[in-house]
Amino acid sequence: MEWTLPLQPQEIDRLVRWRRHLHAEPELSLAEFDTQAYLRQELTQLGIAATAVAGTGLMAVLGPATATKVLLLRADMDALPIQEQTDVPFASRRPGCMHACGHDTHMAVLLAVAARLKAAEADLPLRVVLCLQPGEENGRGAPKMIAEGALDGRWCGDSALQVQAALGLHIWSPLPTGVVSACAGPVMASVDDFRTVVKGRGGHGALPHQAVDAVVAACGVVQALQTLASRRIDPLDPVVVTVGSIHGGTTYNVIAEEVELHGTVRSFSTDLADRLPTWLPEVAQQAAAAYGATAETQYQRYTIALHNDAAMAALVGAVAEQTPGVAGVDRQLRMMAGEDFAYFAAQVPSCFFFVGCGGPDAAPHHSPRFRVDEAALPVAAAVMLRSVLAWAEQKGG
Ligand SMILES: [Zn+2]
Ligand SMILES: [Zn+2]
Repeated sequence: MEWTLPLQPQEIDRLVRWRRHLHAEPELSLAEFDTQAYLRQELTQLGIAATAVAGTGLMAVLGPATATKVLLLRADMDALPIQEQTDVPFASRRPGCMHACGHDTHMAVLLAVAARLKAAEADLPLRVVLCLQPGEENGRGAPKMIAEGALDGRWCGDSALQVQAALGLHIWSPLPTGVVSACAGPVMASVDDFRTVVKGRGGHGALPHQAVDAVVAACGVVQALQTLASRRIDPLDPVVVTVGSIHGGTTYNVIAEEVELHGTVRSFSTDLADRLPTWLPEVAQQAAAAYGATAETQYQRYTIALHNDAAMAALVGAVAEQTPGVAGVDRQLRMMAGEDFAYFAAQVPSCFFFVGCGGPDAAPHHSPRFRVDEAALPVAAAVMLRSVLAWAEQKGG
C-alpha cells in the first residue's frame, strides 16, 4: 500500500515543523485551547474536518463510510508545569510550561499519519478515528473523551462508528532512537493518590509523656506503609508505595499535634488495585494507633493500569520487525508510571507502544532538560501507519 511507504523528506520536514511549533507553545492539562486551534487549522489544511470533544480535545474520522472496521488512533495534547531548561531554538515560549513528556511529538506524528490516510482515503480498507486527547497528565482527559462518545460515535452522531480497537504510542527517551517496544499485558500502572493526616495531642517538647507525638507516629506510619509492598503483597505482583511529602509541627520545642503525609501508590493487577484503597488506610490507622495517635486517609485513583491486548501487541511487534528505520523490537518494557490511555484499553483491544527517542543528550521524561531525538518521529509514524494496515487486513477482526 502506497500510504504505508516510509515518509518522504518533505513529509518529515513538515512533521518536525508541526512538532516544533507545538513544543514552543505548550499548554497545561485541559487548557489546551491554542493547541486545539492549531491542530484544527492544520487538519483543515489537510482537508480533514475536526470536531471539538471534551472541551479542548478534537476528533475526526477518515475512510469510506461503507467500511465496517473501525480503529481509533490516539495522541495526547498536554504539557507540564515545568520551566524548560534546554537550549533548543524552539524551546517553550510560555514561562513555567513545557512539553517535557513528549506529547508534542505524539500530536505531530498523528498529523503525519492523518495526512497519509487522507491522501488515500477512498481506498482505505477501514475507518480510522483520530482522537486528540487533552489532559493526559492528570488522568482526566481519556475518561472525558470516552464519556463524550469517542468509542461509540456519539461525538459525531454516527452510531455505526463503533471503535473495535485502539492504538496509542509514547516516545520514550530511555530507549535508543528507533527501538520500538510493544509488550503484552500490563505495561503501565494504576496511579493512586493518598493523603493521610496523623493526629496526636500537642504539648511541651520536654514533656512527651503528657502528649501524643504526631511526628513519631507519622514516622511509624511511613515505615509501616513500606511493609505493604515488602510483606503484604506477592513479590511477583508489582506495587510501589511512595510518601512524597510530609509536613507537621511548628517549632523545635513543641510536640506536633498533626502531620500530613501525601503519597502515591502504583500497581498493575486489578485485584491489587481493588484492595489497596482499603489496605493502605487500615495499615496507616493501625500503625498510628500503636503510638496512641489516629490516621485518617483520603484515597483516590487518577488512572487505572494500562493492559495491552496480547494480539494487538503481537501485531504491532510484528509490524515493527518489518518497518524500515526501526532499530530493534522489544517486547518487555513495562513501568510503574501511569498513562490514561488505559481507559481506552479497558474498553477495546488495544496496544500502547513505545518508540525510543534517546539521542546522545537524552534526559528523563518530566525533566526540564528533556529533549527528543527527532529521528524517532518518522519511525513512529511508519509503525503507526503499517499497524493500521496490518489491523485492517487481519482476518475476522
Ligand atoms: Zn508525562
Ligand atoms: Zn506522557
